[in-house]
Amino acid sequence: MPTKPDDMVCYLDHNATTPVRPEVLEAMLPYLKEEFGNPNSVHRLGQRARKAVERSREEVAALIGAADPGEIVFTSCGSESDVMAISGAAWAAFEASSGSRRRIVSTRIEHEAVQGALRLLSRRGFEAASAGCDASGLVDPEEVARLIDDRTAVVTVMLANNEIGTVQPVAAVAEAGRGRGALVHTDAVQAAGKIPVDVKALGVDLLALSGHKVGAPKGVGALYVRREVRLVPTITGHQEKNRRGGTESVAMIVGLGCACGLARRDLEAQSRRLEGLRSRLVKETLELRGVRLNGHPERRLPSCAHFTFEGLSGHELVIAMDLEGICVSSGPACSSGDVEPSHVLAAMGQGRAQAGGALRVSLGWSSDDADVDRFLKTLPQAVERLRRVPAGR
Ligand code: PLP
Repeated sequence: MPTKPDDMVCYLDHNATTPVRPEVLEAMLPYLKEEFGNPNSVHRLGQRARKAVERSREEVAALIGAADPGEIVFTSCGSESDVMAISGAAWAAFEASSGSRRRIVSTRIEHEAVQGALRLLSRRGFEAASAGCDASGLVDPEEVARLIDDRTAVVTVMLANNEIGTVQPVAAVAEAGRGRGALVHTDAVQAAGKIPVDVKALGVDLLALSGHKVGAPKGVGALYVRREVRLVPTITGHQEKNRRGGTESVAMIVGLGCACGLARRDLEAQSRRLEGLRSRLVKETLELRGVRLNGHPERRLPSCAHFTFEGLSGHELVIAMDLEGICVSSGPACSSGDVEPSHVLAAMGQGRAQAGGALRVSLGWSSDDADVDRFLKTLPQAVERLRRVPAGR
């Protein structure tokens, strides 16, 4: 079984998605073949599928420190988990308060999954308030606390930012939210499996994660729902204890459970290993002319680095690297050429003039020294070539 996605490709875009871990694929295969039972069936095939689903629930719970596996609800992706959490909690709080709780507090650096849910709720009469961040992408918990009042239904702040990797002070935010009786959600899609995540230490009611960021396939996610919390369901049905309808996708759930188990087992060693790779990558990249590193120097993921290349288009740099077989990203639509900086860079005060060309390099389980070598060998040539041609020409 190969451990690399493709020998020709140097994949450094793990924040976008990770290759499926070989152990995960192996664990899933029986549930795509002979173990095809519906976990809600009474017969033996159903019961074996049920056992597999419940084992995965335990693995997911263990990765995020949930005391009771029953607090884990399986979903189809991180986006669904976010929407189910925010919308479900907003409507539940609204109903329980006879309509007085109709405010949602968030930040300007959330993922589109969260922002979309907030826009939808705003159109339905909820009021959304969002905090900014500093130049390193860090949200100030006191600014969030000032936005929370007794009419707040939900507070949602992401744990790690997908573009720049800054890790947010979610525990402090959660304390402020709880103090006002609001439900607190965190989007931990980029954090789970990469840094220690403990729902009790964070003090959150709801936490979203996604399979394809931790070595499982795309199309499976989970939501932690603290035992005492009731949500208005997005998809009605009896599965998942009435919290999320739809026959459980057993093979995908098994994949997620296996990936979470591996992530928990390897967390410390992997984090140290990726930190070492990243540190060499950052040091040598910063030796190039006109490059700066974005994000918080300490409160960050160990596995990703976000750079700005002055005077270049991030999009063109990504294409130039891809022509050499290196897969990186510029983050959502950001360059000094024809598109605006991302909402995250804009919130960090990097407008069009300062944003330059953004390049996000994100490492993961399949990354090794050879990937970093190849990136560092190719990057200077790609940058020099592009510098000879003005951006956006
Ligand atoms: N939240 C964050 C921070 C993400 O980075 C992503 C995916 O990129 C999502 C949510 C959505 O996850 P999914 O792709 O599983 O829907």
